[in-house]
Amino acid sequence: MARHNLEERAEKTLRDTESYRVPVPIHLVAQRLNLTLEATALGEKVSGMLVVQGNQGAIGYNSAHPRVRQRFTISHEIAHYLLHARRSGKAQLFIDKQVTFRRDESSSAGVNSEEIEANQLGAALLMPRGLVQQGVQRQDLDLDDSEAIDLLAKAFQVSTAAMSNRLQNLKMLAYGN
Ligand SMILES: [Zn+2]
Repeated sequence: MARHNLEERAEKTLRDTESYRVPVPIHLVAQRLNLTLEATALGEKVSGMLVVQGNQGAIGYNSAHPRVRQRFTISHEIAHYLLHARRSGKAQLFIDKQVTFRRDESSSAGVNSEEIEANQLGAALLMPRGLVQQGVQRQDLDLDDSEAIDLLAKAFQVSTAAMSNRLQNLKMLAYGN
């Protein structure tokens, strides 16, 4: 799915679930999509998982991870549910290992196209374009200022790295890259 469609999909999902606000209540988004949530001991290497059967599913996320990380995981699993889960037939399982950023591991998150899409939609759900732009304008943030990015990250309850990444991607959009 093209990136601008993912942006629209994110905004629509948040509006449909009455969750279009800062910080995005990602637990509520999951609930309203018929996804149950459970913090669970998943071991070091797994961030989260999603089980889907028909029109409902369950997300498990690593109970040992920091809260911002858990929010990112939940959002990523919601994205898999919206984009990649079949709605009928046998139960489906998605398991997300820790992102390693190593290009030579074709199975790791961020490498195959479903993972890239889930990361993009996941980021757009937690940091919807419209609300990020409003946040930047309202507070007259200077985006070269790392403290400003930190503040914005805190407001959205995401990591500074995630917000920084998102701002870069949104700038690319604005300038048509
Ligand atoms: Zn994934």
